[in-house]
Amino acid sequence: MRERIEIRLGRKFADSQFSNISQPLSDITSRIVISSDNQNYLNIINALKKYKREDFLGAYWIERYYTRSELERATLFNLIIKPTSTFEPDGEDCGTIYDISGKCEYCGAGARQMSDLMLNTRTIPKGKDICRTISNEWVISERLHRILIENNITGYEAKPIIHHPEAPHSVRLSVTATGRELIKMASMEGIDPNSYKFSRWLDESEHETMFIKALYEYAEKYEARYGPKSVEMASHWRQLTITSKPVELTNDMKYGIIWDLQTEDACPYGHSLRIETVSELYVDGNTWDGSDFARTRILFGFDVHGCNGPPPELLISPKLHRLFVENNIKGYRVEIAHLV
Ligand SMILES: [Zn+2]
Repeated sequence: MRERIEIRLGRKFADSQFSNISQPLSDITSRIVISSDNQNYLNIINALKKYKREDFLGAYWIERYYTRSELERATLFNLIIKPTSTFEPDGEDCGTIYDISGKCEYCGAGARQMSDLMLNTRTIPKGKDICRTISNEWVISERLHRILIENNITGYEAKPIIHHPEAPHSVRLSVTATGRELIKMASMEGIDPNSYKFSRWLDESEHETMFIKALYEYAEKYEARYGPKSVEMASHWRQLTITSKPVELTNDMKYGIIWDLQTEDACPYGHSLRIETVSELYVDGNTWDGSDFARTRILFGFDVHGCNGPPPELLISPKLHRLFVENNIKGYRVEIAHLV
């Protein structure tokens, strides 16, 4: 495996500290690209470590390259959906109903999807078989769905998607008189009507009656305008959900290149880590039930978009990886994961 790290940092900082190895990208940004087996690697990381988190304006990411025989020997793979297979609006903005009453106040984990996934399927990237919304709702093509069924793939469910070419919740509300009043009330309390806080606010008992009234007003308008056919089943896409037992990662995992894992990076309730993985994934073999699709119990990242919370890492078996390769599945890449 070859590993390449790209670090983006402020031009001024780069020029003063790393003028010999950094490449300017613009007046304000430079980059350093280095292999992890380069003899300078540790020197650079140590130099960057001297900077406090809040002073460091850089971003960095890791790319890994494998030989054919490494891929053939692997016992598990980390499935990564490519940025070019990411799309919006997300499910919530297209009308998907989430129960957010059990959501973690610290990391946002724990929302429950209560309806079929609603999406504007025209926004799903063309020519892909596996995609995700910006809120990490996973979508697979009907072609991939067929392949999964024909090969008895385990550990997942492929649920129907409803094509719902609508704008955000708040916009839908804004076409009604009562909805506009609700948006105004929330804004006066400092709540952004495009945030999931707004949905939570609407759920509060003192707003419930008005909210239901607004929904009725909306339904009347909507049907008159678009007719009953405007909401329909999307036949080319399915929602992918992982149903196998979540796996645990082991202490072999490494987190954060420039900063080590700190207390504030971990949700105090143990749901998630707000720091990137630096190593490949190390999975506790006793926790994997052998399913072709799996996910980590621990979630990663921030609750940035929508209300679905931070996502787990996805895993696939060698059998499923082979099927992806043989069928030229589009929209993903893999890294090797290790069973410990
Ligand atoms: Zn949490």
